Amino acid sequence: MFSKILIANRGEIAVRIIRACNEMGIKTVAVYSEADAQALHVNLADESYCIGPALLKDSYLNMTALIDVAIATGCQAVHPGYGLLSENPRFAELCEKCNIKFIGPDWRVIAKMGDKDEARRTMKAAGVPVVPGLDEITDIAEAKKFAGEIGYPVIVKAAAGGGGRGIRIVWKEEDFENAVLTASAEAQSAFGNGKCYLEKYLTDVKHVEMQIVADNQGNVVCLGERDCSMQRKNQKLIEESPCVTLKPEVRKEMMRCAVLAAKTVNYTSLGTIEFLLDKNNKFYFMEMNTRLQVEHPVTEYVTGIDIVKWQIRIAAGIEFMYKQEDIRFRGCAVECRINSEDARNNFRPSCGQIKFMHIPGGPWVRFDTAIYQDYVIPPYYDSMIGKLIVYARERTEAIRKMQASLCELVIDGVNTNAELSGDILAQPEFKDGTYCTNFLEKFLKNYQ
Ligand code: ADP
Ligand code: ADP
Ligand code: MG
Repeated sequence: MFSKILIANRGEIAVRIIRACNEMGIKTVAVYSEADAQALHVNLADESYCIGPALLKDSYLNMTALIDVAIATGCQAVHPGYGLLSENPRFAELCEKCNIKFIGPDWRVIAKMGDKDEARRTMKAAGVPVVPGLDEITDIAEAKKFAGEIGYPVIVKAAAGGGGRGIRIVWKEEDFENAVLTASAEAQSAFGNGKCYLEKYLTDVKHVEMQIVADNQGNVVCLGERDCSMQRKNQKLIEESPCVTLKPEVRKEMMRCAVLAAKTVNYTSLGTIEFLLDKNNKFYFMEMNTRLQVEHPVTEYVTGIDIVKWQIRIAAGIEFMYKQEDIRFRGCAVECRINSEDARNNFRPSCGQIKFMHIPGGPWVRFDTAIYQDYVIPPYYDSMIGKLIVYARERTEAIRKMQASLCELVIDGVNTNAELSGDILAQPEFKDGTYCTNFLEKFLKNYQ
C-alpha cells in the first residue's frame, strides 16, 4: 500500500479523499492555489503546498508543478479526484513516466474512452447499443444531410467534451450549421479540441449510469445504477439509486453491458458507464467517465462499500474483495448537489463569505463539503459547495429525510439552490420517479 498520496484537486472531493487516506493510514499532500490558502483541504492534509495563482491553468492544471510536489514530498501516487486533470491522458502518462501511480485507469484507456466518438465506435463494435448518430462531423453539409435523415432534433457533441459543455441541441435544419460551429468553438477553447459528433436527440429519456469497479486481477464488478435525470443544462442536480422505474430484467441487461464495456477496453479502477433509457426500456450507451464520480456517495449508501478506499487499494494492486454475487443492494439513497448560485436569478453564481452555517445530521444523513463558517468562497472555481446525501430503506422515507435535511441546512452569506431542490422533491414526477432529463427545464419556466 502507498504510504503517501498527493491529492491533485480541491473542494469537497479533496476532503473526501483525505478522509479515506486518514482511515487507511496513508499520509496526504495537498496542493492549492493562491486563492485557496484558507481552503479546508489545505488544513486537513498532512502537508500542503501552494502551486500557483488562482486561475486553474496556473495552478490545479499545472501538471509539472503537481509532479514536482509529488516527487519532492516522496508521494508514490496521485489522486486526481474528478474534473480538472482526472480524465487527462497526458497527465496520467506523465505520472507513469515519473514512476508515480496515477489513481485511475491506464492513460491509454483514458485516451480511448475520453474521445467520446471513438468510445461510441468501440462500444458499437462490442455489441453495446449506442444512440443513433454520426461518428465524426468532418463535412458540415454531409452531416446536415445525415441529420435530416435521422430526423430533428439532433444533438451536436464535442468529442472531448465533459461537464455538460460543448453540447448543442438542434431542433431545426436552419440552426444546424451554427450549432456545429459554436459547439466546436466552445470545445476548442475549453478542451483544446474542436472535434464534434452527432446523435439523435432523444426526448423523454432517463440518464441512468452504471458504477463499475475493475481490479488488476481481471475482476469487473458492477455496483448498480444511479438515476441522474434531474439535470439543468445537461448538468446533474439530484441523483438517486436505485432508479425506481428501471425494470429488473432491464437493469440486469444494462449491468451486463456495463461490464462488457469495461472488459472490452481492459478497464481498471473505478468508472461509470452512462446510458440513456427510453420509455420503451431501450437503453443506449452515451459515454464512459473514467474517474471517480461526483455522485459516488449514492452508490456507497446502497452497497455499503467505500468506493474511494477501494479505488486507492486497486491502484496499489490489491484485488477487489467482492465478486458480483457478493454485491447486495439495500434501500434508497438520494443526493442533492448544493451550488452557490441564485436559482431565482438565472442561476447567477454567488460568492462571498459564509457568515453562519448549520449542517443537518441524524441517521444516514451525510454532507460532503469543504466550506465552513467564515470561509470565503472564491469566484474562480466550481459553484458546487457541497453534497447532501441521505439514505433510507424505502424511497418515500429517503425523500422525506432529504426534504427535512434541506430544511435544516443553513448556509448564510451566499445564495444556494437548496430551496429549489426541496421544491423539486415535492413534485409528483419526482415522487413517482417518472421524471426525465427534460423535466427541470419545464419546471423552471414557471419558477423564477
Ligand atoms: P459527474 O459525471 O461525476 O457527475 P460532472 O459531469 O458533473 O461529473 O463533472 C464533475 C466536475 O468536473 C464538474 O465540476 C465539471 O464542471 C467538471 N468537469 C467534468 N468534465 C470536465 C472536463 N472534461 N474538463 C473540465 N472539467 C470537467
Ligand atoms: P458530458 O460529457 O458533458 O457529461 P454527455 O454525453 O454525458 O456529456 O451528455 C450530458 C447530458 O446531455 C446527458 O446526461 C443527457 O441528459 C444529455 N444528452 C446527451 N446526449 C443525448 C442524446 N443523444 N439525447 C438526449 N439527451 C442527451
Ligand atoms: Mg456525461
